[in-house]
Amino acid sequence: MLVSRENHTARSVVEVGGVPIGPDSITLIAGPCAVETPEQTLAAARMARVAGATLLRGGAYKPRTSPYAFQGLGVEGLRILADVRAETGLPVVTEVVAARDVDVVAEHADMLQVGTRNMQNFQLLQAVGDAGKPVMLKRGMTATIEEWLLAAEYIAQRGNLDIVLCERGIRTYETATRNTLDVAAVPVVQHLSHLPVIVDPSHSGGRRDLVIPLSRAGLAAGADGLIVDVHPHPETALCDGPQALVGADLVELSRAVAVFSSVM
Ligand code: PEP
Repeated sequence: MLVSRENHTARSVVEVGGVPIGPDSITLIAGPCAVETPEQTLAAARMARVAGATLLRGGAYKPRTSPYAFQGLGVEGLRILADVRAETGLPVVTEVVAARDVDVVAEHADMLQVGTRNMQNFQLLQAVGDAGKPVMLKRGMTATIEEWLLAAEYIAQRGNLDIVLCERGIRTYETATRNTLDVAAVPVVQHLSHLPVIVDPSHSGGRRDLVIPLSRAGLAAGADGLIVDVHPHPETALCDGPQALVGADLVELSRAVAVFSSVM
């Protein structure tokens, strides 16, 4: 397989707007779960920088469990992200949920995110593979590691090997956390694949108080980076406020990253 470790002596580095994600560094991606307004997105991007992030996350298209929940601003959200990139210099990572939107998302973003719910949307995988932009492929919440790597292969087959895998928690019998972060997936995938692997401590735990511990767990397992939600006013957030980091958390997050960076 194109994504497998065989025939790759070294693990790969994926460049996103000039920022490397791979084995030689720990990359922090942070930002709001959803783009809501220009002010909120800029404030969240500034928070991301305080935490040491070098890439900005933010959803313009939100795949929500309930059809009554905020679905994202769409193209308007993409424009806000591009404006905030111009203002802060942070390259943008954002989700694309439908093959028909790939071109417009690729016009505005530096990295295309495929979320857990779309990990096996094979037409979408092929379309992002054709888009000529790096792709972050989140693990399906019920997917095995083998299924996840086969999903990545759909992207690779289109000639795009700039793929970063993201472990974001899987569904288990446990209800205390939203999902169960599969920490072991990090070294298992690094053994099987040359692609970088990052961890999402926000969507896995679903709780602010778990984000730093899960970040540490992911980095201790060898993750190449983290993707973390931050929000200037989580109490009024339109999406996933309870898991967004605020104020003092940012310094703690940057310390956690610094500790693991210093022992690389
Ligand atoms: C997200 O990162 O915004 C998101 C919806 O994540 P996931 O697909 O992992 O639920």
